Amino acid sequence: MRKPIIVGNWKMNKTNTEAIAFVSAVEAALHDAADFGIGVPFIALKDAQANAKDLIIASQNVHFEDNGAFTGEVSVEMLKDVNVNWAIVGHSERREMFNETDAGVNKKIKQLAAHNMYAIACCGETLEQFEAGKTEEVVRGQVTAMLADLDANTVSELVIAYEPIWAIGTGKSATMEIAQDTCAIVRDQVRVLYGDDVANKVRVQYGGSVKPDNIAAYMSQEDIDGALIGGASLQIASFEEIINAVK
Ligand code: 13P
Repeated sequence: MRKPIIVGNWKMNKTNTEAIAFVSAVEAALHDAADFGIGVPFIALKDAQANAKDLIIASQNVHFEDNGAFTGEVSVEMLKDVNVNWAIVGHSERREMFNETDAGVNKKIKQLAAHNMYAIACCGETLEQFEAGKTEEVVRGQVTAMLADLDANTVSELVIAYEPIWAIGTGKSATMEIAQDTCAIVRDQVRVLYGDDVANKVRVQYGGSVKPDNIAAYMSQEDIDGALIGGASLQIASFEEIINAVK
């Protein structure tokens, strides 16, 4: 069985001081029914990790090269040095605002896997693509390109987050049916590429206006193994409500 995985993504929010307080408070609410994590800004990763016990501390990005002249970037070695083993890659905000591509995301997943680290790889269509009925085509294409030439073991351990861009930060969450159907498409594309065994292991998250009052309904869908949560992960109280809602 797939263990659910619920991850908050703070984006460009919270100072190091705030991150320490949040992690320490939330640790006490965690339970074994799911894995829980937070995507933390680079500068707060070290102290967040030092204060975490069971909470997964994830970077929100990582570079695909080992080191070198890449001003402003952070390497896997730097993350590992502060005991951070997870990274979110290919978030739609990075794709839209920082020119991240499927090919770049693929390199990042490979780089993380090569260092025994874990990736949460994001996909999802724009409003225009959704309205044009292109969701399936877009998502299958993104998954195929992001997973190019990965070995089956890496894909089994991957978390793929389906986040329709029109549902991110808009309060307009996808219906249960759309979220389930598209997460099933993500899994089916993994099945097409890697077969049943890998498809049954890969964990697929839904993201986009997930809140304490709708998370349980998303989690009850067959192909939704967790959530990637922006706004509702910023307050200790609402993240704790989410943790309690998936007990
Ligand atoms: P919201 O939960 O704020 O819609 O953000 C979703 C998201 O982008 C998580 O990565």
